[in-house]
Amino acid sequence: MSTKRWRRLGAAWAALCLDLDRFKAVNDTLGHPVGDLLLRAVADRLLACVRETDVVARLGGDEFAIVQANLGRPEDASELARRVVATLSKPFEIDGHVINVGTSIGIAICPADGSHVDRLVKSADTALYRAKAEGRNTFRFFEARMEERQRARRELETDLRQAIANQEFELYYQPLVDLRSDRISGFEALIRWRHPERGMISPAEFIPLAEEMGLIVPIGDWVLRQACREAASWPDAFKIAINVSPVQFKNPGLIDCVEEALRHSGLPAHRLELEVTETVLLAENDAILATLHSLRDLGVHISMDDFGTGYSSLSYLRSFPFDKIKIDQMFIRDLSTNTEASAIIRAIVGLATSFGMRITAEGVETPEQLKCLRLEGCHEVQGYLFSPPRPAAEILALIETINGPGDRLEFTEQPLLMLATG
Ligand code: C2E
Ligand code: CA
Ligand code: CA
Repeated sequence: MSTKRWRRLGAAWAALCLDLDRFKAVNDTLGHPVGDLLLRAVADRLLACVRETDVVARLGGDEFAIVQANLGRPEDASELARRVVATLSKPFEIDGHVINVGTSIGIAICPADGSHVDRLVKSADTALYRAKAEGRNTFRFFEARMEERQRARRELETDLRQAIANQEFELYYQPLVDLRSDRISGFEALIRWRHPERGMISPAEFIPLAEEMGLIVPIGDWVLRQACREAASWPDAFKIAINVSPVQFKNPGLIDCVEEALRHSGLPAHRLELEVTETVLLAENDAILATLHSLRDLGVHISMDDFGTGYSSLSYLRSFPFDKIKIDQMFIRDLSTNTEASAIIRAIVGLATSFGMRITAEGVETPEQLKCLRLEGCHEVQGYLFSPPRPAAEILALIETINGPGDRLEFTEQPLLMLATG
């Protein structure tokens, strides 16, 4: 807001809503008595930040509000927010534990963002939501378009709940090409949402939402069943790769879902590859490792997806014997122009080979990239150079284009006729 407009509005005050960034983890690991002491210590630090005319209140749980009176200029609110973020990001010492929490803050200003307290706190809360989404340990002022975004999101949530029942999901398949034979070795299933009004919605948009809402569990279950069923009907023993979200791994039913999908479809377990990202191992959780091992015991293969994008990719390679590593397309992008990029690929291939893992490169778009990857000893590639993800109905034609008509002769007599006549 401009200072000019600010002056016109006259005397003002601000509502700051904040909540602690890692409070739940403290409560879960150190127990509620420590959590309670932490909240008291937080309140003490907040009180030390404000003036006598300001009000500090606990709204519940780990949520606090500050009402800042008599603002001289909008910067007064951001200065207070900055002080609060700084003071709460210093470690707390409680009951012999050193605890690091942080805070996110949303700010709304009266009268610009509403003149009733309820309205103002709601606006501040909307801004808090944005602050958290944009990286935490930070603050945001309320803006009208934040509300618009939140409304759009709520609508999407409602629609997503109905999408399974309404059969609005579809699977597309993208070929993986083996570099020794130059033939398709399998396909990755990639979900699409055909929204009745909005058309196709990308998984990048709705999968994170589905994860947050817990809906990824039933959606993931559908993907497993559908992809295994379709793959079982393919002409050759192509593999099928399926993305599994970290949230699905926290669900105790995952192994049963996979077993069910295999049994129902009749797909042999060794044709199924589950792709997991590094975040699944972030917690180094014994239960998650046990699940991964149980899945491998079924005969299913496990791939590490988006390799190189996480914080400590290399250490994860030690924690579980992955069958395959998929190098993220970020590393492939500047392969033909950048010598460092090919050095990275060479290092990953060397490392993975010594662990006995296969290497797939994702996002291969140009013949130059393909050439480099061959040279570096990569086993398999995937990308627009061969084909984008395609609907199930186009798979047979795709196989014929890439693998030649050979495979097709094995499963239908039609091409023989076509060969004879033309
Ligand atoms: P991902 O698993 O890394 O999948 C690869 C993404 O890269 C796909 O995007 C694919 O269409 C795209 N891609 C493939 N080749 C190229 C290329 O040459 N150039 C470029 N620029 N992109 C390429 P898509 O289909 O939009 O999926 C995005 C992400 O959504 C996936 O990333 C995956 O993380 C997630 N996702 C998709 N389907 C599922 C699913 O069934 N379950 C779960 N949990 N996640 C899924
Ligand atoms: Ca993937
Ligand atoms: Ca990937």
